[in-house]
Amino acid sequence: MSIALLNADLHCHSNVSDGTLEPEALAARAQTNGVELWALTDHDEVGGQRRARDAALALGLPYLTGTEISVSFAGVTVHIVGLGFEADDAALVAGLAATRGGREARAREMAASLAQAGITGAYEGALQYVGNPELISRTHFARHLVDAGVCPDTNSVFRKYLTEGKPGYVPHRWAALGDAVRWITQAGGAAVIAHPGRYKFTPTEEYALFSEFVAHGGRGVEVVTGSHTTAEYEKYADMAVEFDLLASRGSDFHAPEESRTDLGALPWLPGRLTPVWEAIADRVQRP
Ligand code: AMP
Ligand code: MN
Ligand code: MN
Ligand code: MN
Repeated sequence: MSIALLNADLHCHSNVSDGTLEPEALAARAQTNGVELWALTDHDEVGGQRRARDAALALGLPYLTGTEISVSFAGVTVHIVGLGFEADDAALVAGLAATRGGREARAREMAASLAQAGITGAYEGALQYVGNPELISRTHFARHLVDAGVCPDTNSVFRKYLTEGKPGYVPHRWAALGDAVRWITQAGGAAVIAHPGRYKFTPTEEYALFSEFVAHGGRGVEVVTGSHTTAEYEKYADMAVEFDLLASRGSDFHAPEESRTDLGALPWLPGRLTPVWEAIADRVQRP
């Protein structure tokens, strides 16, 4: 069997960031769904790595360490996934802690902005949904606003609130691209551009992101992800070839009720690409 035909799912979230399931429940769900190589990639946090790894290995499921770092690039928030790093690397752990640092103040500003639009108590409301107080995110606000009856689902929250130009949006300065790539790389891992189709870049800006990412030592790009269309699989397969990047595959699963794509339920990587898991095979932890 070609190594491209491996049911690898290298992007998802637990309640250590903005998912709803515990790391152990995610491991079980991945295994039940036929995932053959798994990584938990909580936002800006590695606090769930040991639990995820232990649960996966106990189920016979090979595991790569993971995280998803929030980066500001050309005024846009970009996500960089790290895979196969040493989870207790001091510089990585410190960099992630610094990246998490501004979230509480930002959340209070988001609530103040929502209050101006007539929605009060959103900070306290969002906190009810938070598993890790350092990781309060727009997702937690969205869940609160749905349960408070403001919007019917989280997608409509993000259409009406919390995004640029809408009530509740607060611009935020995340990590620098070069820092995020360096933290991952120097901890022994591979840096991967997450869901590039989601950023609203011009072609010139997107070219700059890929070029600078490679110049900093970035290794891969997500080609098959829950947030890409079929046309985007093709577009980013071509970009992977153009920039000589490894290809990754991940559902970006957050919650059974919210996520379009379940763990493991993705098309295969296009066969002409080199999977990231082939290049970092020595970083896979096996049962
Ligand atoms: P934050 O890191 O606090 O800015 O929150 C970003 C998170 O919000 C992402 O990781 C997604 O989980 C979620 N999110 C962002 N945009 C949307 C959207 N349009 N629909 C649903 N969830 C979204
Ligand atoms: Mn998220
Ligand atoms: Mn993301
Ligand atoms: Mn994600």
